[in-house]
Amino acid sequence: MERAFVIKTVNQHYALNQEILRMLEQFREMMNHCIHVGLAENLTGLKALSSKAYSQLNEYDVMSCYKLCAISAAAGILRNYRKAIRRGEKPPVTSHVKRLRLTTCYGLKIQDGLLLLPYRHREPIRIALTPHVQASIQGYAVRSVTLTGDKLSLAYAKQPVEVKPRGFIGIDRNLDNVTLAATDSSILKYDLSRATIVKTTYRDIRSHMSRNDVRIRREISSKYGQRQREKVKQILHHASKLIVQHAKQERFGIVMEQLTGMRRLYQRGNWQGRRYRSRMNSWSYAELQRQIEYKARWEGLPVIYVYPHGTSVKCSMCGSRMARKPEENRLLHCPKCGVSVDHDVNAARNILARGVRFAPFAL
Ligand SMILES: [Zn+2]
Repeated sequence: MERAFVIKTVNQHYALNQEILRMLEQFREMMNHCIHVGLAENLTGLKALSSKAYSQLNEYDVMSCYKLCAISAAAGILRNYRKAIRRGEKPPVTSHVKRLRLTTCYGLKIQDGLLLLPYRHREPIRIALTPHVQASIQGYAVRSVTLTGDKLSLAYAKQPVEVKPRGFIGIDRNLDNVTLAATDSSILKYDLSRATIVKTTYRDIRSHMSRNDVRIRREISSKYGQRQREKVKQILHHASKLIVQHAKQERFGIVMEQLTGMRRLYQRGNWQGRRYRSRMNSWSYAELQRQIEYKARWEGLPVIYVYPHGTSVKCSMCGSRMARKPEENRLLHCPKCGVSVDHDVNAARNILARGVRFAPFAL
């Protein structure tokens, strides 16, 4: 059986110079050229676009590997453009690309701590890689590089050896913690309260602003939004790292909820707005899952998704509907089997039980 590759990325800053800027601009022009051709000729698919546009890119003085990658990037943009129209969404006013962003998967080399990118015959562009990036990619195959005006990102891959788990952990995510319930009946909680504090600060700042000055408010929200997202991302990275380390150590597969409805809605795209808090939360649910999933797959640990319906209200021992006593807001009681349990733990156990039922492994 062929094993699937898992891709990770690592980023760093770099100093833009004339040659790289020229390459980025050329790449953008080629992309826009291809998008124009694609729209004018109503071409769908990489192959059709490639056979029509490739020869037209002769007028650009760049190595041919960038032409192929520009066509492929343009095909991706055209695909999204058509998808938006099919869904009845308002398509972007212009399909013209303004951002400088180049991705290539051909001809790149890593040598003595340098990234070499094809530029002129036998004269590659050299960019120094940071020690962190060098250490991250050590021993792996670098698949592609993406350059913007100030950052570079390397995608590297491995074929993980699939781990046969000796058990599973169910993961339940709440506003301020992540609760893990394992098949060996151990329970762990990771405190996310730092993320929660960050969100609270944001809300306070925002509610003190005048409602009338929409323009200023928008500016501030977007600046704060970005910073908030970066902060939350760091906290989630820490949590997901610990969770996957634990799973690896114990040789446990991972079971998580399939995100549905509102939570899935805000996974991506324009998540800023009036319902900022709920979007932020929804986004961070999805982001934590994404991180846990790729980190787990990188280690060869299986990841299973289950439907979340009822996981928070059903008894994890007997399946009856649980009751909540108002004076003990974290505890749930089962009227049928008499068990009292923390509601996060109960939910994590329910998620675990659903996953184990569908696990294609004999435990
Ligand atoms: Zn019960």
